[in-house]
Amino acid sequence: MRSMEELVREEVALPSAPGEDEHPALALANSAVALPGGHTADLLGTPAQAEQWLTRRDLAPEGTGLAEVCTTQLRSLREQVRSLLASRVAGQPALPAAIAAINDAMTRVPTAPLLLWDQKTGPYRATPHPTTAIVEHALAVIAADAADLLTSPDAARLTACASPPCNRFLLKHGRRQWCSTRCGDRARAARAYARRTATE
Ligand SMILES: [Zn+2]
Repeated sequence: MRSMEELVREEVALPSAPGEDEHPALALANSAVALPGGHTADLLGTPAQAEQWLTRRDLAPEGTGLAEVCTTQLRSLREQVRSLLASRVAGQPALPAAIAAINDAMTRVPTAPLLLWDQKTGPYRATPHPTTAIVEHALAVIAADAADLLTSPDAARLTACASPPCNRFLLKHGRRQWCSTRCGDRARAARAYARRTATE
């Protein structure tokens, strides 16, 4: 029996699903992977993991010092993006709250350093809380990408991995409906097993 830690490490090593490299929103949606046996490997499980996830995608510099509250914001955006992708794949109307969350993340980003006034040295401009600014910028980039993905021609290729219990989304190339060879192998094995038990 593999430990949870081993399972998480394995998922980190799982290759990106098709489309993730071009779309950070797709990568975010796929950052909590459902594994056989009812486990979930969350790549944003801790602030340190979330920071690594952001720096790997050039969405934050090394040493940002992500706090738990920032990590929660990222996980919350993930739920909204997943909800929108699922609606698009199912051809269903989106939840208004999910649309609002994307628009909010896109527009909340500060556009300019604020004007501050030091009692001795006088006026100056600065970003009051650099970590917050970095995180809000990352959230805005991901939200804008989600909006692009949903409205671009790529949206027609968006699909959910067809190998239960996998919950990843991908951009289809040809007939392939799996996010990875591992999921494809599992789906084929499950089909072969179903055929065997049906003929017995
Ligand atoms: Zn999959």
